[in-house]
Amino acid sequence: MKMRRILIVLPVVMAACSVFAARVQGQGNAGITFTSGPLTKGKVFNFEKITEGVYYATSTGAMITGSNDVVIVNDNDVLLVDAGVTPAVARALVQDVKLLTNKPVRLVVNTHFHYDHTDGNSIFGPDVQIIGHEYIRTAILNLDVLHREPFKTAQANLPDQIESLKKQITAEKDAQQRATLQQLLAATEAEQRQFADIKPTPPTMTYSSNLTLFRGQREIRLLFLGRGHTPGDTVVLLPKERIVCTGDLMESRLAYMGDGIFDEWTTTLDALKKLDFDIVLPGHGVPFHEKSLITAYQSYLKDLMTQVAKLRAQGLTADQAAQKVDLTSHKADFPQITGPGADLRGIRRMYQWMDERRK
Ligand SMILES: [Zn+2]
Repeated sequence: MKMRRILIVLPVVMAACSVFAARVQGQGNAGITFTSGPLTKGKVFNFEKITEGVYYATSTGAMITGSNDVVIVNDNDVLLVDAGVTPAVARALVQDVKLLTNKPVRLVVNTHFHYDHTDGNSIFGPDVQIIGHEYIRTAILNLDVLHREPFKTAQANLPDQIESLKKQITAEKDAQQRATLQQLLAATEAEQRQFADIKPTPPTMTYSSNLTLFRGQREIRLLFLGRGHTPGDTVVLLPKERIVCTGDLMESRLAYMGDGIFDEWTTTLDALKKLDFDIVLPGHGVPFHEKSLITAYQSYLKDLMTQVAKLRAQGLTADQAAQKVDLTSHKADFPQITGPGADLRGIRRMYQWMDERRK
């Protein structure tokens, strides 16, 4: 695939932010043709302009931000799709959004309950509505989310990550590479401290099948299309702009599967493909146009289910199956697949789901 980098430096528009267009297309995904819009660089978030008033927010590297978020600037206020991984990250997001607009953040949509999408919720006061599927509220109030996956492993892995980064920094000869690693080390150490400030906070407004917001000229549809990545995923559709924000129901890369409802996930993705949109803004990865990537992800999930069912029938444990499955035929669409094997937490969940289905 041709790697193209556009470096047109436009005039600096605000003191702390420069605007330019730059991104390596698709980060190696075959078939992604999205050409990035102008970028506003904040301290912690880069904002890629998708269309008038709609921005895709990703980390500058200064902090570990968790999910990629979407900023929707309406006539009088701002809606955020997802709120970042910690209170500190959410505060940084709100601060950086001021580079785009001086309108206040009044609405936050949580695409699902996972910590990297909701743990910024606690910074918002009563003037901000946090909206999510009713399952998110149930999950955050009842699941002891700080002592279960996916937060548990994310937190438990931090000391090893920090040690490994320190070793890499000592061994790194290239000054620029070393600086990048040092920034990542500082961000990882900061995240470890910030995890202590997390207060899981549920949505203040919930819905069960769909909810449409009219904010000035903007129509924003929250849709529950069925269970998938979790039992309560929301997609946010901007019908006029033909943009859909998919959270982790559909990323441009492989999603975490530890709360997956696997057969329904592929059906829900069928419902997603039926919506009218030109642009997908996922919870992780990069924006894309191609419905074919959704089909490719469905075929990955189906292949995984078939292989795991076979291995399980042969008497393998989930841990053995996680090593044995071979999804390398999906590598062109999902380049993070580098060899046989799959994420253990996902395969354990798949075994559990197969048990649930039998009952
Ligand atoms: Zn997730």
